[in-house]
Amino acid sequence: MPAGNERRGTVASGGLFGGPVVRLDADAEIRRLAGSPEQENAALAEAVAVALGDIAALMDRADGDAADILGFQLALLEDDELVAPANAAIAAGMAADLAWKNAMDAEIAGYEVADDEYFRARAADLRDVRDRVARHLAGGTQAPMHSGAVLLGDDIAPTRFLETDWSKGGAVLLARGSTTAHVAMLARGRGVPMLVGLGEIPAEADEAIVDAEKGLAIFDPPAATKSTYAARTAELVKQREAEAEVLFTPAKLGDGTPVEVLINVASLDELDAINPASCDGIGLMRSEFLFSDGKPLPGEEHQYKTYRRLLEWAGDRPVTIRTLDVGGDKPIAGLTPGEEKNPFLGLRGVRLTLARPEVFRTQLRALARAAVHGNLKIMIPMVTVPDEITRTSTLLDECVRELEAESMDCSKPPLGIMVEVPAVATCPELFAAANFFSIGSNDLTQYVTAASRDEPAVAALNDPANPAVLQLIETTARFARDAGIDLSLCGDMASEPAHLRALIEAGLRCLSVAPARVGRVKLALREV
Ligand code: PEP
Ligand code: MG
Repeated sequence: MPAGNERRGTVASGGLFGGPVVRLDADAEIRRLAGSPEQENAALAEAVAVALGDIAALMDRADGDAADILGFQLALLEDDELVAPANAAIAAGMAADLAWKNAMDAEIAGYEVADDEYFRARAADLRDVRDRVARHLAGGTQAPMHSGAVLLGDDIAPTRFLETDWSKGGAVLLARGSTTAHVAMLARGRGVPMLVGLGEIPAEADEAIVDAEKGLAIFDPPAATKSTYAARTAELVKQREAEAEVLFTPAKLGDGTPVEVLINVASLDELDAINPASCDGIGLMRSEFLFSDGKPLPGEEHQYKTYRRLLEWAGDRPVTIRTLDVGGDKPIAGLTPGEEKNPFLGLRGVRLTLARPEVFRTQLRALARAAVHGNLKIMIPMVTVPDEITRTSTLLDECVRELEAESMDCSKPPLGIMVEVPAVATCPELFAAANFFSIGSNDLTQYVTAASRDEPAVAALNDPANPAVLQLIETTARFARDAGIDLSLCGDMASEPAHLRALIEAGLRCLSVAPARVGRVKLALREV
């Protein structure tokens, strides 16, 4: 457990940094007294104009994803429709700042519940625009943009991130935040260490060390901790330089044997910061990111567009999209059973989608339509018996026939399975109907060791290097090689250099890893 001055968080962008703490602003306070409607409208118009000027200035030095975000914010603010509800409230006697905040909050609420993931993610940009205009209405200027500091707060607006000078290093610690927010993507793109979901943050702290390798924030560290981290940071800088050198080279072992290194992704946003030339494709797309708890299930068109964008990003490279794997640690209200005694052994993955054919069909239709846009493979999670492959394949055939009857472009992509249930890894020969195998070492380990993947008290037992797990990986690899079935491993152990030798010895030559680990894995493979 972390000590009193330590907090655990989720790594949104890796790295290490230590420095002075700078607190991020709270929302601008409401303090205007309402003047006449003309005065209030004029004040709002001026604040909007100044905000537009700020964003345009930022845009002059932005590129890529940053330019996209700023372009969206400019377009928002230039649209008179955005200000119209605030003007209406001002006409009814409200002060400009309160009218603006109320109008924007209503707009933001609409974005937050949008069916489309893209619009939901844009809610952060609206909050950013809201706060910028509110600051100008309050007569404030932007807070000074410290460089070489740890920015600490509840959440951080994308423009606040972009206005910060990161040239002297820095890091971000957020009580809330999310790894899929735009600002997390910006942080990954710029290599700024960032932890989100810290929960409660200390009221007082002058300094902090951000260990975004381990997901740890240490506030006001003692001198000994500081010097340990200074040494680790220096090592990390060297390591990063070495990784950058191999990132765009083909992965190979010490003796020159080629290895494929693909990436695991969970959202489209992640791809904006990744150059496809750095990897051999997408080895696992966890499609459940499209399905959010408490939101309507995504429809066929929405799913089709998302899968198509993934394929377009990858070009000729393969993209393996896994069908919905909810249940277990990933409940979705209205979809997964509310009360299960043992959810990891319950209705999850393909068990659930086969029990909800209308949900499965929507996804399979979207996938069959997307298949014409690239090198798509469909992967079934949590397979336990061969019949699950047969039933999924039959459903997919039906969907393809339906689409053809509707004169829709479509095709049937290869259909493979996750090998993550011991019943499959023990007898892989029973599953030869699959077009490919991908070993899910996260679930395989928890089922073989009977140690939950999300229970810290048994974390030491949940060890993918357990000989029983390695033996099952070897059994699967031997059968796949003899039967000529493509094999990869997409569990987290492939991202850990310490496990690579065992995986290569077990016969693996294709690994799918966390995007941030591609360089590290390529580098480590050369030592095997
Ligand atoms: C796995 O189980 O190893 C895997 C890759 O799938 P997930 O972590 O999404 O269950
Ligand atoms: Mg799994």
